[in-house]
Amino acid sequence: MFPANPAHPQRVRVIPFQHGLGPLDYAVPAGMTLNAGDAVEVPLGPRRIIGVVWDLDSAAAPEVPASKLRAVAARLDLPPLAAPLRRLIDWTADYYVAPLVQVVRMAWPSVAFLPARALTEYRLSGPPPARMTPERAKALELLAGRGTGTLGSARDLARIAGVSEAVIRGLVAAGTLVAETVSGDASPPLPDPDHAAPVLSPDQQAVAATLVDAVDAAQFAPFLLEGVTGSGKTEVYFEAIAAAIRRGGQVLVMVPEIALTAPWLDRFAARFGCQPLAWHSDLKTSERRAAWAAIADGRARVVVGARSALFLPYARLACIIVDEAHEASFKQDEGVHYHARDVAVMRGRMEGLPVVLATATPAIETQVLASRGTYRHLHLPSRFGGAQLPQVRLVDMTRHPPARGAWLSPVLGAAISETLALGEQSLLFLNRRGYAPLTLCRACGHRIQCPDCTAWMVEHRLSRRLACHHCGHQLPVPASCPECGATDHLVACGPGVERIAEEVQRTWPDARIAVVTSDTITSPARAAALVTAVEQRSIDIIIGTQMVTKGYHFPDLTLVGVVDADLGLQGGDLRAGERSWQQIVQASGRAGRGHKPGRVLIQTHQPGAALMQALGKGDAAAFFAAEIAARRDLGQPPFGRLAALIVSSTDADAARLGAQALGAAAPVRDGLLVLGPAPASMAMLRGRHRHRLLIQARRELPLPAILRDWLARVPLPASVRVVVDVDPYSFV
Ligand code: ADP
Ligand code: ZN
Repeated sequence: MFPANPAHPQRVRVIPFQHGLGPLDYAVPAGMTLNAGDAVEVPLGPRRIIGVVWDLDSAAAPEVPASKLRAVAARLDLPPLAAPLRRLIDWTADYYVAPLVQVVRMAWPSVAFLPARALTEYRLSGPPPARMTPERAKALELLAGRGTGTLGSARDLARIAGVSEAVIRGLVAAGTLVAETVSGDASPPLPDPDHAAPVLSPDQQAVAATLVDAVDAAQFAPFLLEGVTGSGKTEVYFEAIAAAIRRGGQVLVMVPEIALTAPWLDRFAARFGCQPLAWHSDLKTSERRAAWAAIADGRARVVVGARSALFLPYARLACIIVDEAHEASFKQDEGVHYHARDVAVMRGRMEGLPVVLATATPAIETQVLASRGTYRHLHLPSRFGGAQLPQVRLVDMTRHPPARGAWLSPVLGAAISETLALGEQSLLFLNRRGYAPLTLCRACGHRIQCPDCTAWMVEHRLSRRLACHHCGHQLPVPASCPECGATDHLVACGPGVERIAEEVQRTWPDARIAVVTSDTITSPARAAALVTAVEQRSIDIIIGTQMVTKGYHFPDLTLVGVVDADLGLQGGDLRAGERSWQQIVQASGRAGRGHKPGRVLIQTHQPGAALMQALGKGDAAAFFAAEIAARRDLGQPPFGRLAALIVSSTDADAARLGAQALGAAAPVRDGLLVLGPAPASMAMLRGRHRHRLLIQARRELPLPAILRDWLARVPLPASVRVVVDVDPYSFV
């Protein structure tokens, strides 16, 4: 045997892009040079599939003798996955107990393999089809509504029009949609670091200098950038971005939800002279392909995106910003169950670059890491330009109850009237979409439930439907009780934002109102329209869910009313108090951001609760000290670690038996506690019966290995699915 030559390996280990398949060894044909991270095509059975070279010379442990190996078919012309990113992928797959290939696909989504140029897209520029069907008519109407934006691939247009691709293809065949060739690799504009730099306050200047130094040092450096809402965190991290651009590097800015970034994008453009590259699921295939290519070769200098932007193969990443780092939406609960905030920090470590977690309301995990010195803690203590934080007052609902059938106390009502009289704006915050969370029959007591989930159907009066907020199932609001048939006995129970809007309209008929939820703000364009309407003062009262608490800066908004501060405490998982605090502080932070002082009224039935006291006094220290002490005592994160196993099946018995089998084989070990199996509180979801096990482990235990070993010991039928959720945020 010849010694292995690392420069020209004879066999390589490849991760094939095929679900359920582990790494496979292939021979390297004569004349082909392969390196780790290269994209390849390999034979698999009668087919050829794409894969990535993960290890060279895996001959160290050959399961298949060299003579039996099939050869790599081709090396693809793609920038190879760099070593630090491969390490990150390895780490993520290991830590979150996920298949490697699923993590690799987050770096190399399908568009990575499209040809760079000359994509075919379709435009609505031909005559109407000779044969019109309802589907076609619907598609044409929606596409026409998009104006010139109707250029897209068949798949994109199908998505935009809400029809199948076959309908789009039919319209192509009919000549209504006309094919055009578009270039797939247009370059994003280059942000100018000196376009419009602000004059920073001394506090801001000091923090910005620290971040700029960290970017220049080009070493791993995690930061918690904590500052009250309106303190200028964005302006300050813009300086870090400018420094990275000056050095020729790239910056990734992660945001909780790309649909809400319109105001942020405008601010970025005002500061840097052009928009950054936005990476999101709404991109058309050609745009996505171009964006991916520009990220992979470094032309895209600043990329803003939600979770999915994190694993992309940036050529010259120099800094990562996680904006609103406390947001739970950074936790992905499908596919690979990972926390983008935590993986972002890990990416910084692997690539040797600063990571900035910016937030006014840091998560307990982040607070603890900062207090230990693991993260460097930077503070912006006051609002910029002398703006004062709003005055906060608790409204005891037991002493100031609202009128029958109403939800706003007289105290809040009076404040709204005063605000209207001054010509200023109010925001009413209630984190519940729709009109009413429950529809009940007064004749028989029946509650209308989703057929596929353990959940009530939520009435949406604007769309006249009942909807399940878990699976999306919808039905028209029935005229009579589906159980007993009684008519006129169905009543809506409890408020959602639409119901509050109704009360507001009834009480202040002349007020101009906007309901802001994911049902009404469905696109960046809608978000931008809302911002304009509020800024031009054509809205008096905004009624919104947590969607409205994120990032908006409305100078004339002076009153925030929290309709039900107790809502988030129901259900009571370990983060309930923390999450309520974050939401209410963020909502409060919308008040008084301009020259006029703001005030916040918090409606609660438990004004004595620690959380309410913390909110009322604007002093969270005691509240968090107690929360952190409790977590430490109970060995909860970040002091101990949690993982959940969610066992599900469409067959109730199979799910139960599967969960029992896992329970019976649970690892027994010092410092490890397995709770369950028990039916999940969401016992049925999307038609699947669900059981849960919760593992609590001391930090020093090798949790991923324990989980892997456990799962490997329990064979389960194909009808049973087990989801591993490491560091879970959802406990339903
Ligand atoms: P945060 O991100 O902490 O909520 P922002 O960066 O959004 O704060 O700042 C709040 C408001 O104050 C924004 O309108 C911002 O443009 C403005 N602002 C903050 N710092 C400065 C500055 N140094 N110069 C001019 N405007 C500033
Ligand atoms: Zn459902």
